[in-house]
Amino acid sequence: MKIGVYPGSFDPFTIGHLDVLKSAADLFDLVYVAVLNNSGKNPVFTAQERVEMIRKTIEAEQLGNVRYGLFDGLLVDYAASVNATFIIRGLRAITDFEYEFQIDAVNRHLSEGVRTVYFMASPAHSFLSSSNVKEIGRYGGTIEGLVPACNEYFIRERLARQ
Ligand code: ADP
Repeated sequence: MKIGVYPGSFDPFTIGHLDVLKSAADLFDLVYVAVLNNSGKNPVFTAQERVEMIRKTIEAEQLGNVRYGLFDGLLVDYAASVNATFIIRGLRAITDFEYEFQIDAVNRHLSEGVRTVYFMASPAHSFLSSSNVKEIGRYGGTIEGLVPACNEYFIRERLARQ
């Protein structure tokens, strides 16, 4: 059974993330969306809120072979704990590549058994990031079509209260 882990901050989970997740769910038998629970990144949404938004998205999209979880510590340890041998990441621009290249080197150093696969962002979402969503939402712009519809109201209200 091929198992992959899709890790990220997902602060919040966007349509771009969903795109990558659907591709991964097509390719792997089982995919774990792993929400990074680190305070170092100063997320706007709590870990529980981010997990809950992902849970609702998986349900709404009927992704039967997708699970979710929280992790802190090393990603390779989380991957081992769910028997995953692949890490899934998305690539937008060349700036993502630089970063991903470094992370891949670190993960290979830590665990030879884990390999990373990358999905290119669809052109329609290549500009989309969680930061954009937060910026737009904070200033009252519409986030429709940028995040899964099932989370739109929650995200909008939550950012407006910031
Ligand atoms: P991290 O803090 O680990 O970079 P993110 O939540 O920002 O977490 O992103 C998780 C993964 O999803 C990363 O591999 C990132 O490149 C990818 N990603 C983010 N936005 C998009 C998008 N619009 N299209 C495709 N991949 C994306």
